[in-house]
Amino acid sequence: MPGSEPTPYIGRFAPSPTGPLHFGSLVAAVASYLQACVNDGQWLLRVEDIDPPREQPGATDLILRSLEAHGFEWHGETIFQCASREAHQTALQQLLDAGLAYPCTCSRKDLADAPRSPLGVIYPGTCRNGADAGDHAIRVRTNDEPIRFSDALQGDFEHHLETESGDFVIRRRDGLIAYQLAVVVDDEIEGITEVVRGIDIIDSTPRQIWLQKCLGFRTPAYMHIPVMTHPDGDKLSKLTGAPAIPDSTPGENLFLALVALKQQPPPDLGAAPLKEIWAWADQNWRSQRLSGNKAAIWPP
Ligand code: GLU
Ligand code: ZN
Repeated sequence: MPGSEPTPYIGRFAPSPTGPLHFGSLVAAVASYLQACVNDGQWLLRVEDIDPPREQPGATDLILRSLEAHGFEWHGETIFQCASREAHQTALQQLLDAGLAYPCTCSRKDLADAPRSPLGVIYPGTCRNGADAGDHAIRVRTNDEPIRFSDALQGDFEHHLETESGDFVIRRRDGLIAYQLAVVVDDEIEGITEVVRGIDIIDSTPRQIWLQKCLGFRTPAYMHIPVMTHPDGDKLSKLTGAPAIPDSTPGENLFLALVALKQQPPPDLGAAPLKEIWAWADQNWRSQRLSGNKAAIWPP
């Protein structure tokens, strides 16, 4: 159509500084990076540093150093999520003012007998019509409207929040903004057009889409890539003792990440200079090779 420019692609990698990068996070970084490259888009780096109790001192530096060692180039400055604290508060206030969110004074103990889903407690709505004074979380109201989305690799989903989470927390009792709200506000501010991340977070997507609707934000496209697991099936994470990626062997690491992402790199690619590895990956990236894949064993 004359005069209508296609929306430029903006992707992101959003690590939490809870520890150094492990292979699971490297694979997510590589997939989101290549999606941005093949779409001639921008790739943003956002350090999700809004949960100090979970953070590890020094982790941000280690993550940045690893990404640099592997030849990732991000657009603009590194974004720190705590810089958008005011925007998070504004969004929270917008939901409160519109009556779409409310204070909840329920403790964990109060909710011990509440029904549960795989996502945890299904909030029974105790404080929907007014809470006692005191320490409180803030929950967003949900309803029985189905939430649908189409994932680029995992297919179509329909979710019903009332049977999965009920009204969910957007500001914690300790005063910190919950991940679900922060990520939605930041993706909107940065104009993210596609979210590429591990399938271990796919359960959060319906709640994030709900918040986008409540706040009048755009919904990006979603691509959830397989999660890397240990041979026993446990997800690679700091909790399961996943080792940090060795920055001394970036070529080999990238090669293994491409294998895990089912890109079938030529066997000698790992020994090539980083620029050549990235050039090969850019030319040969086919996300569809991951269609329907939910988990991949590490090392591949
Ligand atoms: N910060 C989250 C993590 O490291 C990822 C958030 C996202 O990609 O939406 O697990
Ligand atoms: Zn409550």
